Amino acid sequence: MNATTYNQDLSILNTSVDITVKREDLIHPFISGNKYRKLKYNVEKAKEIKATSMLTFGGAYSNHIAAVAYAGKAYGFKTIGIIRGEELGLKKDLNPTLKFAKACGMKFQFVSRDDYRKKTSEDFIATLKRRFGNFYLLPEGGTNDLAVKGCQEIIQTEDFHFDYVCCAVGTGGTISGIINASQTHQKILGFPALKGDFLQQDICKFATQQNWNLITGYHFGGYGKIKPELIAFINRFKHNYDIPLDPIYTGKMLFGIFDLIEKDFFPKASKILVIHTGGLQGIAGVNAKLKRKGGPLIDL
Ligand SMILES: *Cc1c(COP(=O)(O)O)cnc(C)c1O
Repeated sequence: MNATTYNQDLSILNTSVDITVKREDLIHPFISGNKYRKLKYNVEKAKEIKATSMLTFGGAYSNHIAAVAYAGKAYGFKTIGIIRGEELGLKKDLNPTLKFAKACGMKFQFVSRDDYRKKTSEDFIATLKRRFGNFYLLPEGGTNDLAVKGCQEIIQTEDFHFDYVCCAVGTGGTISGIINASQTHQKILGFPALKGDFLQQDICKFATQQNWNLITGYHFGGYGKIKPELIAFINRFKHNYDIPLDPIYTGKMLFGIFDLIEKDFFPKASKILVIHTGGLQGIAGVNAKLKRKGGPLIDL
């Protein structure tokens, strides 16, 4: 697996800081942004040990589920998705993410939220092995040592002159890779897409440097929670800079960055690199839900 990326200046932004977006969302048409980075060495490893199937976990709109399903199709693995929410299996029409994953050949098991919480327990994994046979196990969100190794490749020498590097945080694998690849003079800022104090410790498990901080005020109420002001921001951002953002991760992060700029958080003339981790496949599913609720939609 190989990827190239490029940096895009937000030169129209009329502020005292300099913002550049790293378009990781464009490195692959289907394996989006950081999910590509996280899968790269895991796919190599799975091939090396001659695994024939991969099993992983995710929610109904999971970028990781979509990425694994496509990787399975592209690299010749069977894929199994353990999906959070029994009710999803009963619905006749799968949502766009699951429909895509199914078309790539992924098999699903829909589990209750209680069972889903057991996803790291040995008993639960043993049950899955009895049902599906042996498999290469990818944790939820795809975060493990090899994923962090892949994410280190997000940062290249051309990025060393930035003062700040910002990224969205789910399980913490991506920011860990960025931290490990960064220069000590750089400050890495993570914007969690969810509530929870466990992230700090999770990142410490993988990160080899201390030059980072979590900015916790921009999760909009929790994982997958979306407010009209967030949608308005995402639509405005796309209109102004021609860069689409997803509502679960990158939209919340950029909302936070713009808010921090307004509050003079960054010293004058700071050079800020923003990592666009992708996730755009999730917009269709979120829009379908917003439409049912009669709210404003994300512009495509
Ligand atoms: C999964 C995901 C993240 C979070 O990555 P972690 O490594 O789990 O912290 C951020 N942005 C997007 C678009 C994602 O899909």
